Amino acid sequence: MLQARKKAPIVIAIDGTSASGKSTNSKLVAKALNFVHVDTGAMYRTLAWHCLRQNIDVQNVKAVSAACRRWKTSLECADGSAYLAVDGYYPASEIRTAEVSAAVSHVAAVAKVREWMKKTQRDCIKFGSLVMEGRDIGTNVFPETDFKYYQLEERSRRRAADGIEENLAARDQRDSQRAAAPLMVALGARVINNSQMTSEQTSSMILADIRERLAELEKIAGNRQKTGMA
Ligand code: C5P
Repeated sequence: MLQARKKAPIVIAIDGTSASGKSTNSKLVAKALNFVHVDTGAMYRTLAWHCLRQNIDVQNVKAVSAACRRWKTSLECADGSAYLAVDGYYPASEIRTAEVSAAVSHVAAVAKVREWMKKTQRDCIKFGSLVMEGRDIGTNVFPETDFKYYQLEERSRRRAADGIEENLAARDQRDSQRAAAPLMVALGARVINNSQMTSEQTSSMILADIRERLAELEKIAGNRQKTGMA
């Protein structure tokens, strides 16, 4: 008897600039699909927090690379989200401080850090299908996925609404101009200008597109099976 084929996990890549609303939207998409949500920015923030705690100069490439090689982390999944624990501790609010926000794009520009993060982020697939948000998910971490989205939001509006006192433009510039996996629109990504949309509207739009593509892919797989090409 033929065994039912297990479906491979799916990765939804959602990239975009700082505070573009991708975090809220990707959480809504993950919840609706019952996929695991992965905030890759939180992983870079966790390393920046760790360096600051260890008094490591975040602009010293060698020191940051060494810290990333040595830190003791575990990849965990709870309540539908994957995250990094350091020495068994999960820093949640600590990684959202202004100090960490100012440091994070420096550690994120280090090539060895990006290598480590890519491997760790790809390992999240062990938790099942994912909605992964970041800057380089569609271009670098999961370039093979059929589901790539890039969000563009008018940031001044969001910044004013959130009361964020941070130079987001400087962080975006560092993220876009670094040599290793810079922020850019992935080939084949659907670009969404969500400036005039609520999170519910944006996530519904992404969900409708995902469902349409899933149906197309299933149709193709069905046709292949029928013709014996599977
Ligand atoms: O998403 P969030 O704003 O929390 O990300 C913090 C920083 O982490 C970004 O400004 C960027 O420097 C870095 N990052 C990255 N690649 C990702 C996710 C975040 O370089 N995939």
